[in-house]
Amino acid sequence: MSSSTENHDQPTVTVLGLGPMGRALAGAFLEAGLRVTVWNRTAGRDRELVERGATAARTAEEAAAASGLTVVCVVNYDAADAILRRPAVTDTLKGRTVVNLTADTPGRARDTATWAADHGISYLDGAIMTPATTIGTPDAVFLYSGPEHLHHDSRPVLDALGGAHTHLGTEIGRAAAYDIALLDIFWTAMAGYAHALAVARAEGITAQELAPFAKGIAAILPPLFELDVEDIDNGNYTGDLNPITSTVSTMAHIIHTSEEHAIDASLMRAAEGLARRAVGRGHGTDGFLRVIEIMNPR
Ligand code: NDP
Repeated sequence: MSSSTENHDQPTVTVLGLGPMGRALAGAFLEAGLRVTVWNRTAGRDRELVERGATAARTAEEAAAASGLTVVCVVNYDAADAILRRPAVTDTLKGRTVVNLTADTPGRARDTATWAADHGISYLDGAIMTPATTIGTPDAVFLYSGPEHLHHDSRPVLDALGGAHTHLGTEIGRAAAYDIALLDIFWTAMAGYAHALAVARAEGITAQELAPFAKGIAAILPPLFELDVEDIDNGNYTGDLNPITSTVSTMAHIIHTSEEHAIDASLMRAAEGLARRAVGRGHGTDGFLRVIEIMNPR
């Protein structure tokens, strides 16, 4: 069998956007034997992919015309709009499927779904929850929302990306909403870690010295994410083992130590302020998560 015949039998996919993530997606599709067409705003980022067998399109519309399914992965939805909403691209995508793996807000996902419906484009929204290095491996995590049949029909192509693919429901903003909630955890934790390193350095402790203990602190969190989840959903926040009055005191120590070293403590001041408000409203014996009700009263 000639290689061209082999290729002809393979599913096709187009990837728009060749940043680190777009390149990883296109690379995994190639690795799985799909016929891959790629395009990126700035020329030259496709070189290695083309060497591995991808077809380089001269324009986004040419790329979109090459496949029934187009995966978009660019910096945000302003960038995705700049590509998809050009009339030539929109016209080409009519009757085809777009899977948007670009990260942005649930509102932007809903707006894009409306645009797609208005132009006869099948639209699935998605979020990638793991780094580019995981793509094509069992560690990759993809979330989707939108029409179930579209997710089902796209799976033979998307599965080539490896990892776990979860459809979260038909409400198109849901994947982005999970993405936001999960990135909220990640970046708030990273901000805390950066602050901890700044304070530790001021006290003569290196990142290397702190690392083993930092890992121990981080390991406390995963079990907490599963603890009392039903109570949390019902607005009950037990503080039996660690009342919020005690938390406020611990947070104050962090603030005082930071400010003694002239280190900005505004992150911790914000958290401590929420905790103090919960205490002020008579919830001092509850746990720290009572602050959820301060931020978003039910
Ligand atoms: P970036 O977020 O830096 O996105 C770079 C891509 O966006 C390039 O293709 C770039 O094109 C394109 N782009 C930017 N502005 C425009 C524009 N105005 N018009 C057209 N294209 C534009 O890199 P990543 O590839 O890493 O990320 C892509 C998406 O994947 C993001 O939404 C990110 O949050 C998400 N993601 C990334 C992860 C990672 O590990 N990298 C992990 C999980 C999610 P050009 O080359 O021309 O500048």
